[in-house]
Amino acid sequence: MRIAFFGSPGSGKGTQAAALSTGYSLTHISTGELFRAKVLDGTRIGRRIGDTIAAGSLVDDITANYVLFKAIEGLNRFLVDGYPRNVAQAKMFDLHLDNLGTKLTCALFLDVPIEVAEERLTLRRTQRQDKVENYRRADDAPAVIHHRFDVYRKQTEPLLHYYSERIIRVDGTGSSAEVTRKIAKALQEWE
Ligand code: AMP
Repeated sequence: MRIAFFGSPGSGKGTQAAALSTGYSLTHISTGELFRAKVLDGTRIGRRIGDTIAAGSLVDDITANYVLFKAIEGLNRFLVDGYPRNVAQAKMFDLHLDNLGTKLTCALFLDVPIEVAEERLTLRRTQRQDKVENYRRADDAPAVIHHRFDVYRKQTEPLLHYYSERIIRVDGTGSSAEVTRKIAKALQEWE
């Protein structure tokens, strides 16, 4: 089983991807997490990625594809969270899997109205600030959130059309446990 999992910022995709990969024994690969780890390297490329993330923009496609293709090497069961982020990446991903003699099982889209997602991100900020003094994901800064949604609408949302033949849309509103159940049900119906 090979799943590409996507949704807007604040859709809850990170949490749901973790639950789903545990439930289905899939390797969970989050490009956001891989990039954040690279930033900690302190290398030149790490600093460049850090600046891009902090600005709420997308890391360039060549770097994103390289990092993702390396991460899935030798894996047959995986859930990719946050990749592809645009149609160019989706096309390269299909081509890469085709060269490996395989393909995506499906693309899973977590459907959350933009207003709900924005509110969730604001809450996430507040909770984090309460728990960890002075800590906040750089790209959760209020000014950056707006840009992230803009990037999402322009670059990531077109994936709905690109994947239209193999997409599973799941309503991402409700409690975390409810959404997990909805995803499991949708996957069961798909298989
Ligand atoms: P996420 O943790 O998925 O919200 O990703 C955090 C940030 O990492 C994004 O806002 C982008 O700057 C970068 N990023 C993650 N995945 C990708 C990708 N597939 N392509 C380009 N940039 C990405």
